[in-house]
Amino acid sequence: MKLSLFRYILSRKLKGVKRYPLVLQLEPLFACNLECAGCGKIQYPTDILRKRLTPEECWTAAEECGAPVVTVAGGEPLVHPEIDRIVQGLVERKRYVYMCSNAILLEKNLHRFKPDPHLILSIHLDGREPTHDRAVCRKGVYRTAVESIKTAKAKGFQVMTNSTIFSGEDPAEFRQFFSECAAMGIDGMMISPGYAYEKAPQQDIFLKTEETKKWFKDALGDWRQQGWDFNHSPFYLDFLEGKRDYECTPWGIPLRNVFGWQKPCYLLADGGYAKSYAELLATTEWHRFGRASGNPKCAQCMTHVGYEPSAVEDSFSSLPKFFELLRDVASTARLARTAHARQTKSYETLVAEYNSRESPEAKPVPSAS
Ligand code: SF4
Repeated sequence: MKLSLFRYILSRKLKGVKRYPLVLQLEPLFACNLECAGCGKIQYPTDILRKRLTPEECWTAAEECGAPVVTVAGGEPLVHPEIDRIVQGLVERKRYVYMCSNAILLEKNLHRFKPDPHLILSIHLDGREPTHDRAVCRKGVYRTAVESIKTAKAKGFQVMTNSTIFSGEDPAEFRQFFSECAAMGIDGMMISPGYAYEKAPQQDIFLKTEETKKWFKDALGDWRQQGWDFNHSPFYLDFLEGKRDYECTPWGIPLRNVFGWQKPCYLLADGGYAKSYAELLATTEWHRFGRASGNPKCAQCMTHVGYEPSAVEDSFSSLPKFFELLRDVASTARLARTAHARQTKSYETLVAEYNSRESPEAKPVPSAS
């Protein structure tokens, strides 16, 4: 996948394209089987929650924007009755497809998908068991997710995790979480600070910019030496730690949902909706968004949808930067091999050891309903 992405970006550069998409975020529905505290989707009225994009609308979106990677999110994609057709059609169009899921319905739906080098199951895990269950407001979801990951891996699927970081989370606990994910044999981890959606039921759980930098510095300061496999540009992780500074490039990860192409980005709909990616590019007032714009809704944002494309763009901005990236990737891979050779403990052993030495303050988690 890295080679395909490299070729795609290089071709855009050689053609002098100023704004281009890297990842299409596709939300074929908002409906979900969870009601997470930090989510801005499930508060839509019932008639909106019932809306679905058809497979044809999803494929058209992928074809017209041309991004090499498509993330299928929501809502919970597995609630969509035609999600298998949507995913298969995207794979046939040679897109790298990340199918996001909270995993509650994954095991019983796995037979609807085929393992494929272009398909990655991206499982939502916001930390270790108590933390994740608290984030999704339901007990037992973490265990279901871990069992589903093991089953999917055993059936030959590529599986990654995606985690959103909220205020008050313990960086030390997340370091343990990254090691446990690695021991589970997952194929990569994605991580991003949460964005303060106006619709989110809880508003005091989002990190401010300086808190974000401190959190990621504490949690990720030595991620290369630890051998943790993050599915991000290393420059973006540096940005989260405050080692690099970027301006937002929201057109790099555009969102197509049941309303259309959201302006300006995955997180904000202040500019309304466009009918196509071309219209999104042409009609969005980009200068009104991003941290430098002074827009208060962008002031605290460091999310991957705005800043990962900026980090990628930076690494292709000059030959020295590009060689810096190549050296970083090569030395990180070398460090990862050494770390993996050192780490021989199973996931179960790591969990048992951590649980026996820690007695975290019990915070309430709602029971399964
Ligand atoms: S900074 Fe960029 S990604 Fe973040 S909310 Fe503003 S426009 Fe969207």
